Amino acid sequence: MDGDGLGEALDAAAKHAAAWLDSVPERRVPASATVDEVLAALTTELPAEPSTPLQVIEELQHACEPGLTAMPSGRFFGFVIGGTHPAALAADWLVSAWDQNAGMRLVTPSTSAVEELAARWVLDLLGLPDDAGVGFVTGATTANFTCLAAARDSVLRARDWDVGARGLAGGPAVRVLAGEEAHMSVDLALRYLGLGQPETVEADEQGRMRPDALRVALAGAPAVPTIVVLQAGNIHSGAFDPFTELVTTAHEAGAWVHVDGAFGLFAAASSTHRHLTSGMSAADSWATDAHKTLNVPYDCGIALVRDALALRAAMGHEPAPYLITDEAGDPYEKVPEMSRRARSIPVWAVLRALGRRGVEDLVDGLVDRARAFAAGLADVPGATVLNDVVFTQVTAAMEDDETTSRTVDAVLRDGAVWISGSRWHDRAVLRASMSNWSTTPADVEAAVDAVRRARASLT
Ligand SMILES: *Cc1c(COP(=O)(O)O)cnc(C)c1O
Repeated sequence: MDGDGLGEALDAAAKHAAAWLDSVPERRVPASATVDEVLAALTTELPAEPSTPLQVIEELQHACEPGLTAMPSGRFFGFVIGGTHPAALAADWLVSAWDQNAGMRLVTPSTSAVEELAARWVLDLLGLPDDAGVGFVTGATTANFTCLAAARDSVLRARDWDVGARGLAGGPAVRVLAGEEAHMSVDLALRYLGLGQPETVEADEQGRMRPDALRVALAGAPAVPTIVVLQAGNIHSGAFDPFTELVTTAHEAGAWVHVDGAFGLFAAASSTHRHLTSGMSAADSWATDAHKTLNVPYDCGIALVRDALALRAAMGHEPAPYLITDEAGDPYEKVPEMSRRARSIPVWAVLRALGRRGVEDLVDGLVDRARAFAAGLADVPGATVLNDVVFTQVTAAMEDDETTSRTVDAVLRDGAVWISGSRWHDRAVLRASMSNWSTTPADVEAAVDAVRRARASLT
C-alpha cells in the first residue's frame, strides 16, 4: 500500500500517538503553547502544490504537540471530561480505517450489527426498556436535541398537530419546564427546536428539582402539550433529581418526561449507586454521553427514547427512492445526521472489554475518587466543600470569591492537575469532576496537594 505513502503515514501516526499517550500520565496538564504559537508552527497559507501524507503528519505532530492539553490524563479534572479506554481508542482507529457511512443496515451490515448490540447493552446496563429507540450522536447536547425533538413532535401529535408537515407556527403552544439548574445544553436544544426558553422550576440546595414546585407549576394548568426536563447528575453537585415523585407528577399532567443524564445516567449501571436513579426508568426519553463516564474518545452521545417509533418519526425521512431502506429501521432514522461515522463501535468495544462488572467498577471507582478528593480538600486551610458528594462531582470554595478565583488560577499555572473554576449559587467555586477511568488515588492526592500549594502561594 506504500505507493501512495499511506503505510508510512499510518506508521508515523501510530508512533506519535503512542508517544503522546506515554507522555500523558506525567506531562504538565495545561497546554504549553498558545493558539498563535501553534499557528506560527503550521503551514498557514494554503499550499499551491501537494505534499506526501508523511510530511503532513510530521508537521501536524511537530506543530501541535506543545498546544495539546493532557485531557485524557488521570489528573485532568476540568469540566466533565472522560478519558479514553484503550479498547475504545483502538476500535475508533478501525472505525476511521473502515470508513463506513454507517446509516443504512443493508449497506453496512457490520456497523449496523455492532450498533444494535451497543444499543441493547446500554439499555440493559441502564435498566431502560429493551425496545426503546437508540440513536448514536455526537454528544449529550445533540442527544438532548434528538430526544426533545421526539418529545415535541409527540406531544403535538397527541393534539392532532403534525409538526413534520405543518411546522410550529399556528399550532398549539408547547409548555416546557426544566429545573433551575438544568444544563445550558437543554436551553440550546430547546432553542434549536423552536421551543424558546423553558419555564424554570425551583431547585433545592443541591440543585435537584423540587417536587412540590413542579406540582404547583403543573396544578390546575390548562391541559396543554407539556414537556418536563429532569436531570441525572448536576455538573456542580453531581445530584440527581428525585425521579419517582417528579415523573409521577409530570405523567399525571400528561407531560413527556425527558432526563438529561450526560454523565449521571451510568449511575444506573452500579448496584452501589443505582439508588440515585430510582424512578428514572419511568421517563419517556434519556440523553447521555459515552465520552464522559463511559470513557470513549470524542465524540459520542446517546439518545434513548421509550417509544422507538416516536424517535423514528422525529428523525427519519420519507424514504426517498434512491435510498435502500430496511424494515428494522436504519441507523440514520434515529439521529439528525444522514451521513455519519460508526460512533457505536467504540461504545461496543469498551462494554465488551469491561463487561457488566467492569462498568460497575469504573463507576464506583470514580465516586470513590470524588469522595477522597472531597475528604482531602476538607484539610486544606480555607477550603470548604459545598456539595454532598453523592457521585463524581466535587465543588468547593475558598474563603471568598477572590481567593477562590486566584487559587484556581494558581492551580492552572502550577500545571500538575487541571481543575475548573465556575460559579454556583452566586459564588466563585472550584470544581473537580472524576470522570477518567485512569485516575488513581495518587492522582487525587496530587489534586489535593495542588490546591493546597496554590492556596499557600497566594500573598
Ligand atoms: C456535558 C453535559 C451536557 C452536554 O454534553 P456534550 O457532550 O458536551 O454535548 C449536557 N448535560 C450535562 C448534565 C452535561 O454534563
